[in-house]
Amino acid sequence: MQTTPNTKHKTQNTYRVAIIGAGIAGLTLAYRAATAGHQVTLYEANTIASGASGQSLGILVPVTGLNRPIDLLQRQGIAQWPALAQQLATETTTPLPTFFRDWQNGRYQLNTALIFPLLAQAIRQKGGVIHENHPITNLANIRNQTDHTILTAGYGNAALTGAPITISAGLAARFTGDIEGLIAQDNLFLCPSFTAGEVLAGSVNWSLQEPHHGAIPPAKQAELLRRVHAIAPHLKLQEIWLGNRPTQTPRTPLLTSPEPMLHIVTALGKIGLGLAPAIPLPLAN
Ligand SMILES: Cc1cc2nc3c(=O)[nH]c(=O)nc-3n(C[C@H](O)[C@H](O)[C@H](O)COP(=O)(O)OP(=O)(O)OC[C@H]3O[C@@H](n4cnc5c(N)ncnc54)[C@H](O)[C@@H]3O)c2cc1C
Repeated sequence: MQTTPNTKHKTQNTYRVAIIGAGIAGLTLAYRAATAGHQVTLYEANTIASGASGQSLGILVPVTGLNRPIDLLQRQGIAQWPALAQQLATETTTPLPTFFRDWQNGRYQLNTALIFPLLAQAIRQKGGVIHENHPITNLANIRNQTDHTILTAGYGNAALTGAPITISAGLAARFTGDIEGLIAQDNLFLCPSFTAGEVLAGSVNWSLQEPHHGAIPPAKQAELLRRVHAIAPHLKLQEIWLGNRPTQTPRTPLLTSPEPMLHIVTALGKIGLGLAPAIPLPLAN
């Protein structure tokens, strides 16, 4: 497997761009940079979407009706998803309904089994290079070989930059059964899966100092089940998992550039899939 940066000849106004971390933030920025003609190399410590992104439900719904900067950015990001999804469908010749649903009123859903591989496919089609199983430990080495470096390592940004990132643990679950449509109520999210006869649900937050992969606290599991069954008592639990959402307060600005050509994406918390298209692409001349 190739492990060197993308070394296509650099031309005026195109940059060699290294992106560190292939979650939703890294993949969408890499896709947009490659679409703009830049020479993109994406480095992922494990496999694509092996962090918070791969644990997510794919629900794109504003979590508040507030007008704080973060709420406005979430709505802006969500509003960009239909065009982005259509572009991906066209470029990868993948039927849109297999990975994107429009629930009306500005609420959408992504198929998390497909959206990350599709983004990776589209990046490669545009000449981008993706290295999996390639953790970055030495930023200076990467920066010496590229023009712009963008850190999208989620919780990994803490080790790379010293950013004060904590974890908001959350529960997500898959149920057998059917419901009519997407339900978003008091921070409980329930929606039909892209697999027929299955329903996804998520809620319940608590804070941790670092990612947790152990047993789910029984009280937290009981809380999620109680809330789901209050709405849809017929659903049968199939699988439940604990997800680690990298969180930083405040989350805005979504992107900072502490040095020329070095850019850091804030830990995106529990709304990263919706937010991602609103992250500025920091490659102005
Ligand atoms: C259970 C659960 C359900 C969720 N549901 C939703 C939802 O329905 N809608 C929504 O909008 N959001 C949801 N979220 C939140 C969303 O998943 C996150 O906000 C988002 O995935 C964060 O994306 P990211 O790219 O910033 O980080 P991550 O997805 O964590 O990606 C960071 C990547 O960087 C890699 N990495 C780390 N260190 C290094 C290094 N040194 N070198 C190279 N690579 C490195 C990691 O392996 C990882 O793949 C949910 C989260 C959870 C946990």
